[in-house]
Amino acid sequence: MAYAVISDVHANFEALRAVLRDIRDRGIRDICFLGDAVGYGPDPNECVELLRKECKILLAGNHDYGAAGLLSADFFNPYALEALIWTTRVMSRENLRAVKALPVMLELGAENITLAHSSPFEPDLWHYIFSAADADANFGHFKTPLCFVGHSHVPLIFEKHVSGEIALRRGKAVVQSGNRYIINTGSVGQPRDRDARASYAVIEGERIDIVRVSYDIKATQRRMTDTGLPDFLITRLSLGI
Ligand code: ZN
Repeated sequence: MAYAVISDVHANFEALRAVLRDIRDRGIRDICFLGDAVGYGPDPNECVELLRKECKILLAGNHDYGAAGLLSADFFNPYALEALIWTTRVMSRENLRAVKALPVMLELGAENITLAHSSPFEPDLWHYIFSAADADANFGHFKTPLCFVGHSHVPLIFEKHVSGEIALRRGKAVVQSGNRYIINTGSVGQPRDRDARASYAVIEGERIDIVRVSYDIKATQRRMTDTGLPDFLITRLSLGI
């Protein structure tokens, strides 16, 4: 069985459409979304509506909860906060209600996967998983062989061997029975690994692939300029930072 896991769209409709097209071209129908539909980008309503239509499972991220009034402003840096205030103002009531109702973590025992926006350990405190040590602290907090996360916007795969040793894989992995995995899909709408292309994960049988998709970055940047979003958020998109 094949499925796609996408995360951190951040109101970047151009990037979302390019990724959904890529998923459809692969003949994949099942899509899980790990949260942060909004924040930073110019099209929060369009993104929430399309995600709700296309994804089988949806989580919320810290920006979604921030827009919905569930998280205090202290959780956000000044750029993120400025974008968030704008986001809350333009989002429809229905879309705010929809993201507010989403969970931040979900275990799909039958599918052998756990999904979390940030980390399986204290998922509502929005920890980042960047290192093998971070990953190690999280393997004890979910039961399934695979756990998908987003939040850092950096695609990474941590593989924990039966021996306890943790290996870092980039780009792809082949699931070995007995081993366990934490997979960060990277970000659709605001990649931060110095590759400006949208990032998501495809799982086909035992194979896990991080897929990169080019999209019309300039179109998103023009929309951001039109809506008056902060310059730093506009330039970082083309740098992938
Ligand atoms: Zn995010």
